[in-house]
Amino acid sequence: MIRVEKLNKSFGELHVLKDIDLTVNEKDVLCLIGASGSGKSTLLRCMNFLEIKDTGKIIFGGDQIEPDTHNLNKVRQKVGMVFQHFNLFPHKTVLENVTEAPIMVRKVKKATAVSEGKALLDKVGLEDKYDVYPSTLSGGQKQRVAIARALAMKPDIMLFDEPTSALDPELVGEVLETMKDLAKEGMTMIIVTHEMGFAKEVADYTIYMHDGRIVERGNSKELFDHPQEQRTKEFLSKVL
Ligand code: ATP
Ligand code: MG
Repeated sequence: MIRVEKLNKSFGELHVLKDIDLTVNEKDVLCLIGASGSGKSTLLRCMNFLEIKDTGKIIFGGDQIEPDTHNLNKVRQKVGMVFQHFNLFPHKTVLENVTEAPIMVRKVKKATAVSEGKALLDKVGLEDKYDVYPSTLSGGQKQRVAIARALAMKPDIMLFDEPTSALDPELVGEVLETMKDLAKEGMTMIIVTHEMGFAKEVADYTIYMHDGRIVERGNSKELFDHPQEQRTKEFLSKVL
């Protein structure tokens, strides 16, 4: 589904991603963990072409994607992204937030977009919020709208960058539950998270990053229960 080979990215003198290799197959759920500044967000942003890599390959559905030969907007449509801050359109209703891109970008008929949008909002537990404005929602509800909005583009893969980090603790569970449901349905996902319990339980694989490199990767339960590398052990002993 998506493969990254020897990816490198620097910001000026700062070498942020160093020879990153990773593969995500269809229906895989992969969690990325690691300390602040280890390059997790930059890696996701490179995979969504919000940042452009310096060297290496990003292969998406068998196609090696390069900014000068591919329409990156088209590629981005296939890669859903959910951020820590929800970035909803404040002057649009919840339903309009979800139908905007399908109507404008996918050129779906409005009636179709509305029925698909309602079905997605029902799925994330917001069946009674179609017509309200984002400002009236809790953080957890906003994030679930953001997830529904990303799903409305029918992405092949969903990338999440700390989707629960900005939430009050009591609202984290409902968003994790929504992501868990997506995983069960077979959505391919890469999730940057500090929720180690979630990573261990829901992710097929977990990658630990340190200082721009992948230090360790493995089956999530193995990695959390039996980390092999010293740096992974130290990190987990601090966060678990
Ligand atoms: P966190 O857990 O705090 O979100 P992270 O693992 O997501 O951290 P990144 O945001 O990928 O880390 O940042 C990696 C490094 O790259 C950091 O040192 C950061 O300051 C730097 N960096 C990120 N984006 C930029 C940018 N646009 N310009 C310059 N430096 C950047
Ligand atoms: Mg980050």
